[in-house]
Amino acid sequence: MWSALLVTVALAGLPGPHDDDPVDRTQLRLRTASAPRCKAPLTHPVQVRDTPHLHRANPGRSWGTPWLVELIEAAARQVRYRHPDADPLFVGDLSHKWGGPMYGHRQHRDGRDADIGLYSADRRQPEHGFERVWPSQLDEETTWALLDALLSSGRIKAILLDQGLINRLVTWLRETETLSEAEIAEIFPRPGAPRLWERSGIVRGARNHADHLHVQVTCTQPES
Ligand SMILES: [Zn+2]
Repeated sequence: MWSALLVTVALAGLPGPHDDDPVDRTQLRLRTASAPRCKAPLTHPVQVRDTPHLHRANPGRSWGTPWLVELIEAAARQVRYRHPDADPLFVGDLSHKWGGPMYGHRQHRDGRDADIGLYSADRRQPEHGFERVWPSQLDEETTWALLDALLSSGRIKAILLDQGLINRLVTWLRETETLSEAEIAEIFPRPGAPRLWERSGIVRGARNHADHLHVQVTCTQPES
């Protein structure tokens, strides 16, 4: 008993960046080592789990690569760590268990895409299905907490969102000085910027994305 206590005290006393928080919940703690191959079928599917931080819409359409699924679960957990009063994240379609075409989507075929709910005022998420969020209704702080968690993983290829909502979010990031102009320019390239498809870690404007975020993770090109 005493020895266990002494070890605990000794560990807590170790120098480090998080002395006051021995369990560092500000980190995503991702384990999957490498991105899936581009254009590869979904051969090792994992399913998004319902957790206290996350509510999945449809278990049969909640399959993806580990690279994507653990990121969604970790990002949902981190948003709730930062904002305990936020609703659980509402997670819509990923892919079918073994991938392939999914009705209603052009992508979502290989476990690299996910549709995720937006936070409206007071950190609310939809409960049963996506709901349109007008720019004036967007909860910028919580939405940014989610985007920041996703982007900081280094796994994001692109996140698609309605341009009006992006504009609202960027105004908030500027006003609160959360990001510098250089960071804003890097993460939110202007519409029509050249060679956007070559870039990673960006948030892009897209039609039909006023009620959800479309998240796509990176992949590795097969060696030629
Ligand atoms: Zn989508």
